[in-house]
Amino acid sequence: MSEQDNRKGSGVNYDDLVFDWSNPSMTTRPVRRRTEEPEQTAPAETAPAEVRLEETVEEPVQIPEEEETAGEEKRTGASARNRWEEIRRKTAARKTAGNHKSAGASSAAERLERISRKKKASQVTPVSRAVSFIRSHLRILAIVLLAVVVLIGGTMLVRQLLKGGRRNVNADGLPDYVQEQYLTINSYSRPGIATDTIRGIVIHNTAVPGRTAQESRDYFEGLSASHETRASSNFIIGIEGEVIAAVPLGEVAYASNNRNMDTISIECCHSDEEGKFTDETYASLVKLTAWLCEQYGLSEEAVIRHYDITRKMCPRYYVEHEDAWKTFLTDVKNAGTEEEES
Ligand SMILES: [Zn+2]
Repeated sequence: MSEQDNRKGSGVNYDDLVFDWSNPSMTTRPVRRRTEEPEQTAPAETAPAEVRLEETVEEPVQIPEEEETAGEEKRTGASARNRWEEIRRKTAARKTAGNHKSAGASSAAERLERISRKKKASQVTPVSRAVSFIRSHLRILAIVLLAVVVLIGGTMLVRQLLKGGRRNVNADGLPDYVQEQYLTINSYSRPGIATDTIRGIVIHNTAVPGRTAQESRDYFEGLSASHETRASSNFIIGIEGEVIAAVPLGEVAYASNNRNMDTISIECCHSDEEGKFTDETYASLVKLTAWLCEQYGLSEEAVIRHYDITRKMCPRYYVEHEDAWKTFLTDVKNAGTEEEES
């Protein structure tokens, strides 16, 4: 084998070698062909791939605007390397951003990022919307609030007025014109027994003409010591219209025989044997009876005479004068209606 053969066999690519014939001193010295390509570095090797990548990349990778606008430039050979560098840089950036699999994933991530940015932006909107809504409707809200306050206040005021319309009541819930002078509990006048459900109001007159309400009350109290008889009444109305409560409501008084358990008794003083009530007594009786009817949900039909239970001549005048009794019941009814209206 000749020397040249050896050279040929050494693996040297003679196509790459050129002889500079114009230079006599270098007749045999090969000169490496100058190429446009850089020396055999990694990018040069991958340069052709770059072009392919560029083509394939264009579809899946939605390279944003800047790349699109550079479209013309990238087709020229001079910018090809720059393009490659750019793509590589972007791909690396996307990889570090956590999009490992594909260019499609990268664009999906971008979209997600955009959505999250929009979400963040829209999160502020409802709050600001609410604020602006409140601001623009502040007057209406104030009016509504005022209306609510007025409504509640008005209701409370009306209730208070209605309470006043029912007349003021004392500590035990009785009308304030009633004097509470309760008897001491004793088996002759105040047994301290609770009543059943109240179903009636029984009207009486005192046994002795000319006796005052106070004297009547004290007489009942005295029975606890004298043991003379068993007698009492829940209320006593005097000839001047005064009202004394001797036995509390809810407790049995000894006045109406077999109806003591489910009735309230009112005893009225009178001046003479005729037994007619004074105007003052009558007025107080109508008032008190109407109040009791309202308290116990009774009509005037539940208002009876002692006579209606035992045929005893009590209250005498209203047994003998049936029309006066009927007038009385009508007055009670009207008093109750007036009370409701006021
Ligand atoms: Zn009687």
